[in-house]
Amino acid sequence: METVAPFKEVIDEIKEKGGDAISRCFQCGKCDTVCPWNRVTQFSMRKLIREATFGLSEIETEEIWRCTTCGKCPQVCPRDVKQIDDMIAIRKMATGYGVFPAAVQLVRSISAGLTAQGNPFNEDRSKRAEWTQGLSVKTFAEGMEVLYFPCCYTAYDPRLKKVAQATAKILNKAEVDYGILGSKENCCGESIRKTGNEDLFKRLAKENIKAFIENGVKKILVSSPHCYQAFKNEYSEFKVNFEVVHISEYLPELIDSGRLRITKEYEKKVTYHDPCYLGRHNGIFDQPREALKKIHGLELLEMAEARENSLCCGMGGGRIWMETPKSERFSNIRIEDAVEDGAQEIVTACPYCITSLEDSRVVMNRADVIEVKDITEILQDVI
Ligand code: SF4
Ligand code: SF4
Repeated sequence: METVAPFKEVIDEIKEKGGDAISRCFQCGKCDTVCPWNRVTQFSMRKLIREATFGLSEIETEEIWRCTTCGKCPQVCPRDVKQIDDMIAIRKMATGYGVFPAAVQLVRSISAGLTAQGNPFNEDRSKRAEWTQGLSVKTFAEGMEVLYFPCCYTAYDPRLKKVAQATAKILNKAEVDYGILGSKENCCGESIRKTGNEDLFKRLAKENIKAFIENGVKKILVSSPHCYQAFKNEYSEFKVNFEVVHISEYLPELIDSGRLRITKEYEKKVTYHDPCYLGRHNGIFDQPREALKKIHGLELLEMAEARENSLCCGMGGGRIWMETPKSERFSNIRIEDAVEDGAQEIVTACPYCITSLEDSRVVMNRADVIEVKDITEILQDVI
């Protein structure tokens, strides 16, 4: 093997930015065998880690931006190399130097939108609650049971607004005492943090925490597993601790307590796609399945890659803001798996997964064969 003199300054910078586990790697290559990228193209986390241990990371290439932070390779790594933290550390360097390859350029304007308006679309902050039009949704006030925090996508994106609306209909039906913060909400910051923009994450997090505290928020209900991850696991770095619940956990609770009654049948074959940040990162596998199993007539199918072994949709780690050629989208495989299993609908519980699966159903010419739904969109039809 060629001998390479380590670039100590680069290694120190990677370690200082959170990638201090790189030196534990012994190049077994197990990470590459499970990485979804190797289903669609060639990609080697093993190689990126090796380059990092020698201080030879090439921050101008797209390779350092590929990891979707899906959490699959950390499950099999025998040395706990913490690949996700390592990649974020290297991205922090690239972001710090302002180096973004062509496929990643959009991250700049996304950051500008997040800075100016608190959302990645640079949509007017004052329009954040427009999804509630025609629905009875109150502004959160201290003493209410729960704050509903729709993510930026469910608040602004035309397809995903339907998820926030379905959630509000369910909460109204169950007579939950809830409210939203509307224009006082900012993006949770989870995905921009994964692109290495730590300062912007901190700014968004602090603004949200301020709004939560000023309004007396104790319990937060979220639609997005990315908001769940941020509020539950990352905001604790700011010494705050809110009770955080994802809608897929809340639904079986509402049904079991009798607050939500299922009154209609749903005669369809449905398969459930585990979002990485709900399943692998936060261990929520059973609750969404429990909610679906309570629906009469619904036949729940399991894809071969389910639960801890679920296939990433490709949108985590900030990839939702990066270009992925149509032939390299993991969600194409997911749509084909679901169709082959005979599912009429693929249901999930994450706005990012819905975005990618909706896209793949068109890319794969499967739009007339399978539908993509959020779990709330099924529940709203049976109550
Ligand atoms: S699985 Fe872990 S130890 Fe093996 S090559 Fe990948 S990072 Fe290194
Ligand atoms: S976390 Fe997922 S996408 Fe990233 S390198 Fe590991 S397996 Fe691949």
